[in-house]
Amino acid sequence: MPSPSSDAVTTAAHPGGTHPLRLPPVRWLLLLVALMALASATALWLTLQQARQLGQPDQHSDLWYVSSVNSELARVRLLSHQLLAGEASADELMLRLEVLYSVLDNTSALPKLSDRLHGRLPNTAATLRELAHHVDAWLHTMDNNPAAHSEQVAREITRWADLLQQQARTAVADVHVAATEDNDATRQSLYQRFVLLSLVLAGLLVGTAALIWYLLQEARRARRISLALSQTNQLLETRVVERTRQIEEGRLLLSFILNASPSDVLLIAADDGEVFFINQRLIQRLDLTRPPQHMRVTDLLHDDAQCQALMEGLDRYGEVDGMEALLGHKPPTWCSLSARLIEVDGRLGHLFWSFDITPHKRLEAQLRELATTDPLSGLDNRRAFLDKSAALLEHCRRHHQDCAVLMLDIDRFKAINDRHGHAIGDQAIIACAKIMRATLRDADVLGRMGGEEFAALLPLANDKAALDTAERLRSAVQALYIPLENGDDLRFTVSIGATQLGGRDTSVEGLLVEADEALYRAKAEGRNRVVTHLPHTPATSETTSLP
Ligand code: GH3
Ligand code: MG
Ligand code: MG
Repeated sequence: MPSPSSDAVTTAAHPGGTHPLRLPPVRWLLLLVALMALASATALWLTLQQARQLGQPDQHSDLWYVSSVNSELARVRLLSHQLLAGEASADELMLRLEVLYSVLDNTSALPKLSDRLHGRLPNTAATLRELAHHVDAWLHTMDNNPAAHSEQVAREITRWADLLQQQARTAVADVHVAATEDNDATRQSLYQRFVLLSLVLAGLLVGTAALIWYLLQEARRARRISLALSQTNQLLETRVVERTRQIEEGRLLLSFILNASPSDVLLIAADDGEVFFINQRLIQRLDLTRPPQHMRVTDLLHDDAQCQALMEGLDRYGEVDGMEALLGHKPPTWCSLSARLIEVDGRLGHLFWSFDITPHKRLEAQLRELATTDPLSGLDNRRAFLDKSAALLEHCRRHHQDCAVLMLDIDRFKAINDRHGHAIGDQAIIACAKIMRATLRDADVLGRMGGEEFAALLPLANDKAALDTAERLRSAVQALYIPLENGDDLRFTVSIGATQLGGRDTSVEGLLVEADEALYRAKAEGRNRVVTHLPHTPATSETTSLP
């Protein structure tokens, strides 16, 4: 098994492929074992060849053959002697010669000597061939008439017998020696091949042992790595489970907190508005029965302009903080809204959270009213009057429209206070404010400038309209009476100074000064009258009404 590390090193060193000389050790070992196995097979094959040669039956056949020839020759010789002595018949000799001939088997070109010895013992082969030739000749002589020629053949055999017997014995000895020499040589060779085979087998054994050792080492290492991997895996799994549990707990806790939070919380997908989370408080605020699947910002906010501002803030900066907006539709409530552009599970999302600022808004309205309204008369105070008048005056100036300003002061008010008390004086102030509110239009701006002084700004009112209005005011106050405890009625009058914008670049304060000057003149001229300020001749004023 190739080790991962060695493979990695090889691959890194030769990105194009494995260099043959940098094979991993296991491949070298496998190559060695394969070579050793091949060498062992070759050595075994050679040894078998040698062993087969050693076990060849030819050698024994050769020896048996020449020995048989020798012994048959001896029998033929003995029978010839017996025939000559009259102790044997011609047929017996004929039979014995046929046996000898059959042993020699001279039918083939060569006698029955093995090919191996044929080359090494040419004399023996020749001797056997010659003997066969003689036997053949003797048989041929006796063939027609054995009885007539048997003695002649027997004498011939006797004559040649010594020599032939001697040659046969020599052949036996030569074959025996040759066979022994061959056996010795074969044994030597066989011994050497056994040694070679043993060496090769020893090499194979060593290679196989090395391979097995290496494989065992690798298997042990692989087991160690596998164990370490399994432990790491287990550790990772434990951590993942633990982390998942923590996240799940965190999610539950977060969900609990967000549901218990005084804030409204909503998390939706930025693209299709899929609702990832909405807390109970917001569900109730939006008057929903269950969490919706999808929501748009327009479902959340009442005012389209606020929706647009919120989305612009999110698109441009990715966050919006403390935006005051009307949340929900049935009915909408003022909330302080914050939003973030965040990523949720690989998707862009919009996170909104808000809290109800209705009490704050109510308080703010109260404070604003306190800051802008005169508590006694209910009219705008001086500051509110100046703010509203400035805006309205600017509008009239821009559109080249008429605009008049009146200043009104209760006549001899100090005396009223002194004679009837401060509370009655307050009632006079309240009654005067009431008449002014009833007499003037909704578009007119009214204010108590201090003490028993009032001011009014009348947009779109020319000189005549302004004088008419002032006069109506004056006469309405004159007609007014406040019942006193002693049964009498309190009656009082007002003096009014008026001025006109007249297309000039004058401020509210400037017009008030002019109206005040006219008022001063009305007082000076006897009170309970309306006096207009003449723009280009400030020194003279026109009295429009006298008591
Ligand atoms: P004139 O005709 O010249 O205007 O005489 P007058 O007495 O009205 O003149 P003056 O402005 O001096 O008097 C105003 C008085 O109004 C003085 C002050 O005590 C009284 N006053 C101011 N504010 C209040 C208020 O809120 N209630 C009451 N009852 N009196 C007030
Ligand atoms: Mg007064
Ligand atoms: Mg006054």
